Amino acid sequence: MNKPPLDPSDSNSRSRLDRIVADTRRKADQRSLGYREQALKMYPWICGRCMREFTRANLQELTVHHRNHDHDYNPADGSNWELLCVYCHDNEHSRQLDARSGSDGGRSENAVATGNPFADLKAQMARKKI
Ligand SMILES: [Zn+2]
Ligand SMILES: [Zn+2]
Repeated sequence: MNKPPLDPSDSNSRSRLDRIVADTRRKADQRSLGYREQALKMYPWICGRCMREFTRANLQELTVHHRNHDHDYNPADGSNWELLCVYCHDNEHSRQLDARSGSDGGRSENAVATGNPFADLKAQMARKKI
């Protein structure tokens, strides 16, 4: 029990650690490469917003957007992917942020309009305590 599990001065455990890190990185690369390759095979190389067309020469500016914003959700039918140029992709994400803060504002306005929504809850909790 005295032996440290990963001694950095021990070349054996260091190379084992390196291998784990390299393996994890490779898997992540394969996954991200995987869905991009698949999406590029499945869809025409056109930005879904500005309709700009892409060729092999500028293909690195065409990105894969996840419609539900979950990069780990990659169904094989491509239903969560959308090809967007880097500019429209940026716009898409800032637009989503705007929409979210807007709906929050709407919610608090509703709360004001209907009076204090917690008043009744407070009364219920008080009743339970007795
Ligand atoms: Zn675009
Ligand atoms: Zn995106």
